[in-house]
Amino acid sequence: MVPVKTQPEYLQDAEVAHGHLCAGQVLGVRLAMLGLQKLEIDDPYGKDRKRLVTFVEIDRCATDAIMVVTGCRLGKRAVKFRDWGKMAATFVDLESGKAVRVAARESSKDLARSLHPELANKNQQQMLAYRELPDEQLFSTQWVKVALPPEEFPGFKAERITCAECGEGINFRREVKRDGKTLCRACAGERYYEESGDRIIG
Ligand SMILES: [Zn+2]
Ligand SMILES: [Zn+2]
Repeated sequence: MVPVKTQPEYLQDAEVAHGHLCAGQVLGVRLAMLGLQKLEIDDPYGKDRKRLVTFVEIDRCATDAIMVVTGCRLGKRAVKFRDWGKMAATFVDLESGKAVRVAARESSKDLARSLHPELANKNQQQMLAYRELPDEQLFSTQWVKVALPPEEFPGFKAERITCAECGEGINFRREVKRDGKTLCRACAGERYYEESGDRIIG
């Protein structure tokens, strides 16, 4: 299996998409390329375009690079964010049902430092080392099972439900039943914002 793009090519794309080249880009490109390699997905923008859903466990630099390599986008419902603060991602092949989780090893940072003590800058040390180190030293990988209900699939279609409280539309079965009422998650108590004024209509 030969990926459609090489690591330097993906790195270039990642730099453009992310705005700068950093250690996180190198790590993210490697992490995602390893995941795709395990799943034998070599053309995520072409023939394999609809095969992949990616769970990411952190929102940092590397996350952008993972999107670039996989072609998975939040707006295509192909990215699932689990805010766990961990440098890890799980790649799910919708065609085969296989899934692999790849996590950066804690030891990779120390390795980077010991590999390039001549560089004063930590980012420079890591950028170089993350290019050179073999996959096994950078990452741990594990085959996993991901139960993906129909509403999590990118192409899921269903009618939109209206919240009985605020009247806003809810897609993808995200509504909640509470005391016989159908509510959005905000009205059901999961609101991440406080209302600090009247709703302005129109
Ligand atoms: Zn960055
Ligand atoms: Zn509501």
